[in-house]
Amino acid sequence: MLNLFGHTFRHGVHPPESKGLTEHVPIRRMPFPDRIALPLRQHAGKPAKCLVHKGDRVQRGDKIAEADGYVSVPIHASAAGTVVDIGWWPHPDGSMTETVVIDVEEYSPQIPRPRMVPNWSGLTPDQVRAAVQDGGVVGLGGAAFPTHVKLAPPKDLPIEWLLVNGAECEPYLTTDHRTMVEYPDRVHFGLRIMMQCLGVKRAVIGVELNKPDAIAALERTIPDDLDVTVQGLTVKYPQGAEKMLIEVVTGREVPSGKLPMHVGTVVQNVGSIATIAEIFETGLPLIERVVTVTGPGVRKPSNLIVPVGTMLGDVLDYCGGLTEDAAEIVFGGPMMGSSQPDMRTPITKGTTGVVVLTASEVKPKRTYPCIKCGHCLEACPVFLNPSQLGLLAQAGRYDVMQERYHLQDCMLCGSCSYVCPSNIPLSQMFALSKTALRKQQTAAAAKEKETEKEKEQEGAKVA
Ligand code: SF4
Ligand code: SF4
Repeated sequence: MLNLFGHTFRHGVHPPESKGLTEHVPIRRMPFPDRIALPLRQHAGKPAKCLVHKGDRVQRGDKIAEADGYVSVPIHASAAGTVVDIGWWPHPDGSMTETVVIDVEEYSPQIPRPRMVPNWSGLTPDQVRAAVQDGGVVGLGGAAFPTHVKLAPPKDLPIEWLLVNGAECEPYLTTDHRTMVEYPDRVHFGLRIMMQCLGVKRAVIGVELNKPDAIAALERTIPDDLDVTVQGLTVKYPQGAEKMLIEVVTGREVPSGKLPMHVGTVVQNVGSIATIAEIFETGLPLIERVVTVTGPGVRKPSNLIVPVGTMLGDVLDYCGGLTEDAAEIVFGGPMMGSSQPDMRTPITKGTTGVVVLTASEVKPKRTYPCIKCGHCLEACPVFLNPSQLGLLAQAGRYDVMQERYHLQDCMLCGSCSYVCPSNIPLSQMFALSKTALRKQQTAAAAKEKETEKEKEQEGAKVA
């Protein structure tokens, strides 16, 4: 049974929504830039394997890198042109990563090669999953997890609910909002395909109540033969986190270390669902996405359809450039986003928005010692102890963070950092701790394997 309208999760925060700059601005298509940069690592899982060479000519929509295994997706050219480089390039996560650079053909009509449009209704679930993987579809809400994997829950975990995440609780962003307002039929079509693929009878689209036009558009267009409910959600951050959304809509709590499928749900971002619809409408893979370009530091805030691989500098130029007082550029929103110092950094499949902040919105860099005020504990939606985790992170005690303080449950939502009066960058510290812990665990596993091998060799000698 659905929870009562207005029910919400415990804890969380209420940052200023700041969506007014773009929430009523229709989506426009950005012209093709002169050059695009397509990182082979744009999704969770293994990076794609490059299929092209320097000097190759490619058409819009051509596969330039193939999936490397099951938890991986291919990358496609988002514009026709010539491969001019394959090498290290700035990535939105701050690293340098292997990237295919394409000079876009100046007078090309950018018409993709003719392709088969799969007839979804005649396909088996396996064929739908294969088409979704082949189309390079990932979660467009930021995490970029390959969508086909979510469409294949183990047989012993039956799925009862398909939840569509239209919360878009991150301040400033209006990507999902405008998609729901302008393309509600596409959302329902994608939903229909996913429901059939998962064998699910009912779906709920969760939308925060600050988007009444999106709720109205989706409700108006629900097909008669689909059991779809549009549920208004209390405005609170991080309402769009999977675990929060599941709790609010179904009343079920995802236990520590478990996944949504363990409580009979699959959650998909509204943009990913619209992308699946497009694959079965046009046959085109994921080569462009809706991006909100906004903030007080950009001259013409916009919602744009941007070819994947378009560089930050080109996007900002198209939006009139920066204001004099622009102080920081963030990919994603101010709560979970990452600061971008390099104008060559490309928009990837997971880039939800470009937010340009001025000095008054940027948190002061100076930090102070923890004063044990407890605000971070009251803010954490998964009931962790960010204060203690922060002290352990500073001491490099990643194992203790994991074993005693459940670091793995941290969603890096930024609520604790947001409320901390000492400006301690808690969630950034937890992100680094997770990476460090992963490296430690990988090294330990490799060492253990090596020791076992040595023991086996010793044993063989003795024998
Ligand atoms: S970043 Fe992690 S610790 Fe901080 S509030 Fe979010 S879930 Fe809790
Ligand atoms: S909010 Fe900041 S200062 Fe307060 S207890 Fe948490 S880490 Fe310490």
